[in-house]
Amino acid sequence: MNEHMIRDVVIVGGGTAGWMAAAAFSRFLNNGVTRITLVESEEIGTVGVGEATIPPLITFNRMLGIDENEFIRETGATYKLGIEFEGWGDIGERYFHPFGSHGHDLGGVHFHQLYLRERKRRVLQDISAWSMSAVAAQAGKFARPAQGAQSAVKDLLYAFHFDAALYARFLRRYAEANGVRRNEGKIVDVVLRPGDGHVSAVTLENGESVGGDLFVDCSGFRGLLIEEALATGYEDWRQWLPCDRAVAVPSRYSGDPDPFTRATARGAGWQWRIPLQQRMGNGLVYCSEFMTGEAAEKELLANLEGEPLAEPRHLSFRTGRRRLGWNRNVVALGLSSGFVEPLESTSIHLVQSGIAKLIALFPDRRFNPVERDEYNRQMCDLYEDVRDFVILHYKATRRSDTPFWDRCRTMEVPDSLQRKMDLFRAKGRLFREGLELFATTSWVAVCLGQHIVPAEHEPAADALDEAKVADAMEQMRLDYLQVAAQLPTHAEFLRHSGATL
Ligand code: FAD
Repeated sequence: MNEHMIRDVVIVGGGTAGWMAAAAFSRFLNNGVTRITLVESEEIGTVGVGEATIPPLITFNRMLGIDENEFIRETGATYKLGIEFEGWGDIGERYFHPFGSHGHDLGGVHFHQLYLRERKRRVLQDISAWSMSAVAAQAGKFARPAQGAQSAVKDLLYAFHFDAALYARFLRRYAEANGVRRNEGKIVDVVLRPGDGHVSAVTLENGESVGGDLFVDCSGFRGLLIEEALATGYEDWRQWLPCDRAVAVPSRYSGDPDPFTRATARGAGWQWRIPLQQRMGNGLVYCSEFMTGEAAEKELLANLEGEPLAEPRHLSFRTGRRRLGWNRNVVALGLSSGFVEPLESTSIHLVQSGIAKLIALFPDRRFNPVERDEYNRQMCDLYEDVRDFVILHYKATRRSDTPFWDRCRTMEVPDSLQRKMDLFRAKGRLFREGLELFATTSWVAVCLGQHIVPAEHEPAADALDEAKVADAMEQMRLDYLQVAAQLPTHAEFLRHSGATL
């Protein structure tokens, strides 16, 4: 046995991040050598929000071998085809940010370029008419595309809304069945090794010491190891993402769940509406500089569909990123590694990405700075890409009806985002760089949805025959409508998946 072998992995925290990490490690580091322990404190509890996801979660579940119907049943889940944004560009406007793509490229030219050209010639529908996911969502329809599907249904890309606490419980059963040890208790001390300053153990309130070689900090916003013990530092993004509070409440609703999230802009922030099987998840995300907690709660309750099912819960946060996701022998996952605010439902994905990168760079024999730096570089890029995409929603507003929106509209944005907006404004050009999460469809949906209209289209689009392009586009649009008409309703498909409505 190599004396430097990394045998004991200790996960601190049992929220969504902790149990996702435990489940994935129990599946991918199941080598007979690595022991995985998770420490959590029921007394401290979890953040208790986080209900909307994006499509890569399907891959995470599949990699764990989770049956999707079982997952739907166990987590109160519904299907999600995208997000409807209300009042972001201006009051009274709405648009849809779908999963999947807009139409199909023709002759090597991006679909949205053809759309931009065609839009100059005639009045066209909104670009979401060329998204299978958006068309199905707006018709309240859903089906999982069968493998190898030939029709436009294969363009339907989806994610889930679910109860994050039930998901954590589901993954806990999975992880414990795969050998993960759970240790209930409150950590009161973190022991650092003299010399290299690595964490060597955490001490619980009952005096027990849990030692390890690698620590995964999933302790939530506080960052028990990464910040409180290692003082890693935090990059604050409030100048671009000013919301720093949320108030959340579930409500009872009648009728069938929509297969999409709704994000409605309000005077000093925005409100989410997330349909689950048995309840609606609601919350108002706001900026405390422009709104009090009391006013936020009042606004949320005034805009609730159905009666509240619990007392509203108030939360504080600071948008930003931990300077290093991996510092010494501690890797932070979840809220301890940063928070880009929930607008595009990316937090759980950032957990998933961190887990995948850590497994890919797992230090099985010793800590190699090259691997650690690579992890930090990739996570930093990912966080910043997500940050820019979320800032875009605030910056690209034309609202000036409140000081909050006035500030967002006139703020300076990061150079990386400004460059993208300028390129899009000129000729609708978008380039997906490196490991960027949000693809062309997402940028096009938000830019056009919020009226960033390119002055021109790419010259390459002019090389294609106008009449042929117009016919092909019309055929695509009709195909999407026809396929959507044939799909079951979202509620029917949910029942078929074993959901209780
Ligand atoms: P937590 O849930 O806070 O878990 C922390 C864990 O650490 C707990 O088990 C706790 O007991 C343990 N712990 C802490 N201190 C100690 C100690 N001293 N001893 C022992 N244990 C300890 N994400 C999405 O993807 N989609 C969304 O729609 C979404 N909406 C959100 C809305 C809001 C308002 C907020 C604030 C977040 C939202 N998120 C969303 C983010 C999402 O909630 C989190 O990313 C996710 O739940 C992971 O949280 P976590 O596990 O990192 O932290």
